Amino acid sequence: QYPVTAFIGLGNMGGPMAANLVKAGVQVLGFDVVPEAMTAARRNGVHVVTDPLDAVVQAEVVLTMLPSGRHVISAYEESPGLLSAAKPGTIFLDCSTINISEAQQAAALAQQAGFRAADAPVSGGVVGAEAGTLAFMVGAGAEVFNEVHPLLDIMGARVVHCGENGLGQAAKICNNMILGISQIAVAEAFVLAEQLGLTDQALFDVVSRASGQCWALTTNCPVPGPVPTSPANRDYMPGFASGLMAKDLGLATNALDEQGVDAKLGRLAAAIYSEFAVGDGAHKDFSAIITSIRDNSAH
Ligand code: NAD
Repeated sequence: QYPVTAFIGLGNMGGPMAANLVKAGVQVLGFDVVPEAMTAARRNGVHVVTDPLDAVVQAEVVLTMLPSGRHVISAYEESPGLLSAAKPGTIFLDCSTINISEAQQAAALAQQAGFRAADAPVSGGVVGAEAGTLAFMVGAGAEVFNEVHPLLDIMGARVVHCGENGLGQAAKICNNMILGISQIAVAEAFVLAEQLGLTDQALFDVVSRASGQCWALTTNCPVPGPVPTSPANRDYMPGFASGLMAKDLGLATNALDEQGVDAKLGRLAAAIYSEFAVGDGAHKDFSAIITSIRDNSAH
Protein backbone atom coordinates (compact mmCIF):
# COMPACT_ATOMS: atom_id res chain seq x y z
CA GLN A 1 0.00 0.00 0.00
CA TYR A 2 1.60 3.27 -1.16
CA PRO A 3 1.30 6.48 0.88
CA VAL A 4 -1.37 8.98 -0.17
CA THR A 5 0.61 11.68 -2.00
CA ALA A 6 -0.02 15.40 -2.40
CA PHE A 7 1.78 16.47 -5.59
CA ILE A 8 2.50 20.20 -5.76
CA GLY A 9 3.87 21.47 -9.10
CA LEU A 10 2.53 19.60 -12.14
CA GLY A 11 4.78 21.13 -14.82
CA ASN A 12 7.04 19.55 -17.44
CA MET A 13 8.52 17.14 -14.91
CA GLY A 14 5.84 16.96 -12.21
CA GLY A 15 3.02 16.24 -14.70
CA PRO A 16 4.42 12.95 -16.04
CA MET A 17 5.85 11.95 -12.63
CA ALA A 18 2.40 12.29 -11.06
CA ALA A 19 0.86 10.36 -13.98
CA ASN A 20 3.26 7.45 -13.35
CA LEU A 21 2.32 7.37 -9.65
CA VAL A 22 -1.37 7.17 -10.58
CA LYS A 23 -0.67 4.34 -13.07
CA ALA A 24 1.05 2.37 -10.30
CA GLY A 25 -1.98 2.71 -8.05
CA VAL A 26 -0.90 5.60 -5.79
CA GLN A 27 -3.67 7.94 -4.66
CA VAL A 28 -2.40 11.33 -5.91
CA LEU A 29 -3.94 14.68 -5.00
CA GLY A 30 -2.46 17.37 -7.23
CA PHE A 31 -2.15 21.14 -7.34
CA ASP A 32 -0.49 23.68 -9.64
CA VAL A 33 -0.95 27.44 -9.89
CA VAL A 34 -1.38 27.12 -13.69
CA PRO A 35 -4.89 25.87 -14.68
CA GLU A 36 -3.63 24.09 -17.86
CA ALA A 37 -1.29 21.96 -15.76
CA MET A 38 -4.24 20.97 -13.55
CA THR A 39 -6.38 20.06 -16.58
CA ALA A 40 -3.63 17.83 -18.00
CA ALA A 41 -3.12 16.18 -14.60
CA ARG A 42 -6.85 15.50 -14.25
CA ARG A 43 -6.77 13.71 -17.62
CA ASN A 44 -3.99 11.50 -16.21
CA GLY A 45 -6.07 10.44 -13.23
CA VAL A 46 -4.71 12.90 -10.65
CA HIS A 47 -7.35 14.09 -8.21
CA VAL A 48 -6.81 17.84 -8.62
CA VAL A 49 -7.75 20.32 -5.91
CA THR A 50 -8.13 24.09 -6.13
CA ASP A 51 -6.60 24.65 -2.69
CA PRO A 52 -3.27 22.87 -2.05
CA LEU A 53 -4.09 22.58 1.65
CA ASP A 54 -6.99 20.25 0.73
CA ALA A 55 -4.39 17.88 -0.75
CA VAL A 56 -1.91 18.22 2.10
CA VAL A 57 -4.45 17.58 4.84
CA GLN A 58 -5.12 14.08 3.42
CA ALA A 59 -1.52 13.22 2.52
CA GLU A 60 1.17 11.05 4.05
CA VAL A 61 3.79 12.38 1.61
CA VAL A 62 3.85 15.97 0.26
CA LEU A 63 5.92 15.94 -2.94
CA THR A 64 6.98 19.29 -4.41
CA MET A 65 8.34 19.71 -7.98
CA LEU A 66 8.77 23.47 -8.29
CA PRO A 67 11.07 25.80 -10.27
CA SER A 68 13.37 27.04 -7.48
CA GLY A 69 14.16 27.05 -3.77
CA ARG A 70 12.30 30.31 -3.32
CA HIS A 71 9.13 28.59 -4.57
CA VAL A 72 9.63 25.59 -2.27
CA ILE A 73 10.24 27.64 0.87
CA SER A 74 7.37 30.03 0.22
CA ALA A 75 5.01 27.11 -0.54
CA TYR A 76 5.99 25.55 2.81
CA GLU A 77 5.76 28.77 4.81
CA GLU A 78 3.49 31.35 3.22
CA SER A 79 0.40 31.87 5.25
CA PRO A 80 -1.25 29.47 5.28
CA GLY A 81 1.59 27.31 3.93
CA LEU A 82 1.69 23.57 3.27
CA LEU A 83 3.29 22.98 6.69
CA SER A 84 0.22 24.44 8.41
CA ALA A 85 -2.12 21.76 7.07
CA ALA A 86 -0.17 18.50 7.28
CA LYS A 87 -0.97 15.53 9.54
CA PRO A 88 1.57 14.39 12.15
CA GLY A 89 4.19 12.06 10.60
CA THR A 90 3.91 13.54 7.10
CA ILE A 91 7.05 13.42 4.95
CA PHE A 92 7.88 16.55 2.93
CA LEU A 93 9.67 15.26 -0.16
CA ASP A 94 11.13 17.95 -2.40
CA CYS A 95 12.22 16.76 -5.86
CA SER A 96 13.01 20.23 -7.29
CA THR A 97 16.61 21.23 -8.06
CA ILE A 98 17.46 23.99 -5.57
CA ASN A 99 20.42 25.39 -3.59
CA ILE A 100 21.86 22.97 -1.03
CA SER A 101 21.40 25.61 1.68
CA GLU A 102 17.75 26.09 0.65
CA ALA A 103 17.19 22.32 0.75
CA GLN A 104 18.59 22.25 4.28
CA GLN A 105 16.43 25.24 5.23
CA ALA A 106 13.29 23.60 3.78
CA ALA A 107 14.03 20.38 5.69
CA ALA A 108 14.64 22.32 8.91
CA LEU A 109 11.33 24.17 8.51
CA ALA A 110 9.47 20.87 8.07
CA GLN A 111 11.28 19.29 11.02
CA GLN A 112 10.69 22.29 13.29
CA ALA A 113 6.98 21.99 12.48
CA GLY A 114 7.12 18.35 13.65
CA PHE A 115 7.32 16.64 10.24
CA ARG A 116 9.95 14.63 8.38
CA ALA A 117 11.79 15.72 5.22
CA ALA A 118 13.84 14.53 2.26
CA ASP A 119 15.40 16.17 -0.79
CA ALA A 120 15.32 13.99 -3.89
CA PRO A 121 16.36 15.93 -7.00
CA VAL A 122 16.31 14.03 -10.28
CA SER A 123 18.23 13.64 -13.47
CA GLY A 124 16.85 12.20 -16.69
CA GLY A 125 14.77 15.12 -17.95
CA VAL A 126 11.24 15.08 -19.33
CA VAL A 127 11.92 11.88 -21.29
CA GLY A 128 12.95 10.11 -18.07
CA ALA A 129 9.96 11.56 -16.21
CA GLU A 130 7.59 10.20 -18.87
CA ALA A 131 9.26 6.80 -19.06
CA GLY A 132 9.61 6.44 -15.28
CA THR A 133 13.37 6.08 -15.62
CA LEU A 134 14.60 9.08 -13.60
CA ALA A 135 17.62 8.89 -11.30
CA PHE A 136 16.85 10.14 -7.78
CA MET A 137 19.58 11.44 -5.46
CA VAL A 138 18.19 11.39 -1.95
CA GLY A 139 19.19 13.39 1.12
CA ALA A 140 17.39 12.11 4.24
CA GLY A 141 17.77 9.96 7.32
CA ALA A 142 17.66 6.20 6.71
CA GLU A 143 14.10 5.77 8.00
CA VAL A 144 12.66 8.49 5.74
CA PHE A 145 14.71 7.18 2.80
CA ASN A 146 13.23 3.70 3.27
CA GLU A 147 9.70 5.10 3.42
CA VAL A 148 9.95 7.19 0.23
CA HIS A 149 11.94 4.58 -1.71
CA PRO A 150 8.88 2.69 -3.08
CA LEU A 151 7.37 5.92 -4.46
CA LEU A 152 10.67 6.95 -6.05
CA ASP A 153 11.04 3.46 -7.54
CA ILE A 154 7.80 4.02 -9.47
CA MET A 155 9.05 7.26 -11.03
CA GLY A 156 12.68 6.26 -11.44
CA ALA A 157 15.09 3.54 -12.49
CA ARG A 158 17.81 4.42 -9.98
CA VAL A 159 17.49 5.67 -6.41
CA VAL A 160 20.66 6.53 -4.46
CA HIS A 161 20.78 7.45 -0.78
CA CYS A 162 23.43 10.21 -0.68
CA GLY A 163 23.32 11.03 3.03
CA GLU A 164 21.51 13.48 5.29
CA ASN A 165 19.20 16.33 4.22
CA GLY A 166 20.74 18.49 1.48
CA LEU A 167 23.15 15.83 0.25
CA GLY A 168 20.84 14.73 -2.57
CA GLN A 169 21.10 18.27 -3.96
CA ALA A 170 24.87 18.18 -3.34
CA ALA A 171 25.24 15.05 -5.50
CA LYS A 172 23.08 16.49 -8.28
CA ILE A 173 24.97 19.79 -8.35
CA CYS A 174 28.40 18.09 -8.35
CA ASN A 175 27.34 15.80 -11.21
CA ASN A 176 26.06 18.67 -13.30
CA MET A 177 29.22 20.70 -12.67
CA ILE A 178 31.27 17.81 -14.14
CA LEU A 179 28.80 17.57 -17.02
CA GLY A 180 28.86 21.29 -17.88
CA ILE A 181 32.67 21.42 -17.80
CA SER A 182 33.06 18.24 -19.84
CA GLN A 183 30.54 19.32 -22.49
CA ILE A 184 32.52 22.52 -23.03
CA ALA A 185 35.81 20.56 -23.13
CA VAL A 186 34.44 18.19 -25.79
CA ALA A 187 33.07 21.09 -27.85
CA GLU A 188 36.41 22.96 -27.72
CA ALA A 189 38.25 19.83 -28.87
CA PHE A 190 35.92 19.37 -31.86
CA VAL A 191 36.35 23.01 -32.93
CA LEU A 192 40.14 22.75 -32.63
CA ALA A 193 40.11 19.45 -34.55
CA GLU A 194 37.99 21.00 -37.32
CA GLN A 195 40.44 23.91 -37.64
CA LEU A 196 43.35 21.45 -37.79
CA GLY A 197 41.70 19.50 -40.61
CA LEU A 198 40.68 16.41 -38.60
CA THR A 199 37.24 15.01 -39.44
CA ASP A 200 34.61 14.81 -36.69
CA GLN A 201 34.38 11.05 -37.20
CA ALA A 202 38.16 10.55 -36.87
CA LEU A 203 38.25 12.53 -33.63
CA PHE A 204 35.25 10.60 -32.32
CA ASP A 205 36.74 7.21 -33.25
CA VAL A 206 39.93 8.01 -31.35
CA VAL A 207 38.58 9.80 -28.26
CA SER A 208 35.59 7.51 -27.68
CA ARG A 209 38.10 4.69 -27.04
CA ALA A 210 40.79 6.78 -25.39
CA SER A 211 41.25 8.57 -22.08
CA GLY A 212 39.17 11.59 -23.16
CA GLN A 213 36.07 9.36 -23.34
CA CYS A 214 33.03 10.76 -21.48
CA TRP A 215 29.21 11.01 -21.67
CA ALA A 216 29.39 14.46 -23.29
CA LEU A 217 31.19 12.78 -26.20
CA THR A 218 29.75 9.28 -26.49
CA THR A 219 26.08 10.10 -25.80
CA ASN A 220 25.73 13.85 -26.25
CA CYS A 221 28.22 14.28 -29.10
CA PRO A 222 28.03 17.99 -30.07
CA VAL A 223 28.44 17.43 -33.83
CA PRO A 224 26.02 15.55 -36.12
CA GLY A 225 27.08 12.15 -37.40
CA PRO A 226 29.09 10.05 -34.97
CA VAL A 227 26.20 9.51 -32.49
CA PRO A 228 22.94 9.60 -34.51
CA THR A 229 20.75 10.03 -31.39
CA SER A 230 22.60 13.10 -30.05
CA PRO A 231 20.79 16.49 -30.09
CA ALA A 232 23.29 17.85 -32.67
CA ASN A 233 21.48 15.70 -35.26
CA ARG A 234 18.19 17.55 -34.68
CA ASP A 235 19.40 21.16 -34.59
CA TYR A 236 20.14 20.85 -30.85
CA MET A 237 16.56 20.26 -29.78
CA PRO A 238 16.93 19.25 -26.10
CA GLY A 239 17.87 16.94 -24.46
CA PHE A 240 18.88 19.06 -21.56
CA ALA A 241 18.29 22.74 -22.29
CA SER A 242 21.16 25.22 -21.83
CA GLY A 243 18.91 27.35 -19.62
CA LEU A 244 18.60 24.49 -17.13
CA MET A 245 22.35 23.84 -17.28
CA ALA A 246 22.95 27.55 -16.57
CA LYS A 247 20.59 27.30 -13.59
CA ASP A 248 22.34 24.23 -12.18
CA LEU A 249 25.80 25.76 -12.65
CA GLY A 250 24.52 28.84 -10.81
CA LEU A 251 23.58 26.55 -7.90
CA ALA A 252 27.07 25.01 -8.13
CA THR A 253 28.67 28.46 -7.99
CA ASN A 254 26.64 29.32 -4.89
CA ALA A 255 27.83 26.12 -3.22
CA LEU A 256 31.45 26.78 -4.28
CA ASP A 257 31.26 30.27 -2.78
CA GLU A 258 29.67 29.04 0.44
CA GLN A 259 32.30 26.35 0.85
CA GLY A 260 35.22 28.47 -0.39
CA VAL A 261 36.29 25.91 -2.99
CA ASP A 262 38.87 26.94 -5.60
CA ALA A 263 37.02 25.55 -8.64
CA LYS A 264 38.08 27.71 -11.55
CA LEU A 265 36.53 25.53 -14.25
CA GLY A 266 33.17 25.20 -12.48
CA ARG A 267 32.90 28.98 -12.20
CA LEU A 268 33.99 29.48 -15.80
CA ALA A 269 31.47 26.91 -17.05
CA ALA A 270 28.74 28.75 -15.11
CA ALA A 271 29.72 32.05 -16.75
CA ILE A 272 29.89 30.48 -20.24
CA TYR A 273 26.44 28.87 -19.93
CA SER A 274 24.79 31.91 -18.36
CA GLU A 275 25.97 34.00 -21.32
CA PHE A 276 24.85 31.32 -23.80
CA ALA A 277 21.44 30.95 -22.13
CA VAL A 278 20.52 34.56 -22.84
CA GLY A 279 18.16 34.49 -25.83
CA ASP A 280 17.75 31.54 -28.21
CA GLY A 281 20.52 29.46 -26.64
CA ALA A 282 18.35 28.88 -23.55
CA HIS A 283 16.06 26.48 -25.39
CA LYS A 284 18.77 24.54 -27.23
CA ASP A 285 20.48 21.49 -25.83
CA PHE A 286 23.57 22.41 -23.82
CA SER A 287 25.79 20.66 -26.40
CA ALA A 288 24.92 23.63 -28.70
CA ILE A 289 27.64 25.51 -26.81
CA ILE A 290 29.86 24.31 -29.69
CA THR A 291 28.09 26.77 -32.02
CA SER A 292 29.16 29.70 -29.88
CA ILE A 293 32.75 28.40 -29.61
CA ARG A 294 32.85 28.05 -33.41
CA ASP A 295 31.35 31.52 -33.95
CA ASN A 296 33.87 33.13 -31.61
CA SER A 297 36.86 31.37 -33.21
CA ALA A 298 39.06 32.76 -35.99
CA HIS A 299 38.43 30.96 -39.29
P1 NAD B 1 8.16 23.68 -14.85
O1 NAD B 1 8.30 25.16 -14.81
O2 NAD B 1 7.66 23.03 -16.09
O3 NAD B 1 7.18 23.21 -13.65
C1 NAD B 1 7.10 23.81 -12.40
C2 NAD B 1 5.63 23.94 -12.05
O4 NAD B 1 5.49 24.48 -10.74
C3 NAD B 1 4.86 24.88 -12.99
O5 NAD B 1 3.78 24.18 -13.58
C4 NAD B 1 4.41 26.00 -12.08
O6 NAD B 1 3.13 26.54 -12.45
C5 NAD B 1 4.32 25.29 -10.75
N1 NAD B 1 4.31 26.15 -9.57
C6 NAD B 1 5.10 27.24 -9.28
N2 NAD B 1 4.82 27.71 -8.05
C7 NAD B 1 3.84 26.90 -7.53
C8 NAD B 1 3.16 26.85 -6.28
N3 NAD B 1 3.39 27.74 -5.32
N4 NAD B 1 2.24 25.87 -6.10
C9 NAD B 1 1.99 24.98 -7.08
N5 NAD B 1 2.61 24.98 -8.27
C10 NAD B 1 3.53 25.91 -8.50
O7 NAD B 1 9.57 23.10 -14.43
P2 NAD B 1 10.08 21.58 -14.58
O8 NAD B 1 10.85 21.45 -15.86
O9 NAD B 1 8.96 20.67 -14.28
O10 NAD B 1 11.17 21.53 -13.40
C11 NAD B 1 10.82 21.37 -12.04
C12 NAD B 1 12.10 21.19 -11.26
O11 NAD B 1 12.80 20.04 -11.74
C13 NAD B 1 13.08 22.37 -11.37
O12 NAD B 1 13.68 22.59 -10.13
C14 NAD B 1 14.09 21.89 -12.41
O13 NAD B 1 15.36 22.48 -12.24
C15 NAD B 1 14.13 20.40 -12.10
N6 NAD B 1 14.56 19.55 -13.21
C16 NAD B 1 14.08 19.76 -14.46
C17 NAD B 1 14.51 18.95 -15.52
C18 NAD B 1 13.99 19.15 -16.92
O14 NAD B 1 14.57 18.58 -17.85
N7 NAD B 1 12.90 19.90 -17.13
C19 NAD B 1 15.43 17.91 -15.27
C20 NAD B 1 15.87 17.70 -13.97
C21 NAD B 1 15.42 18.53 -12.95
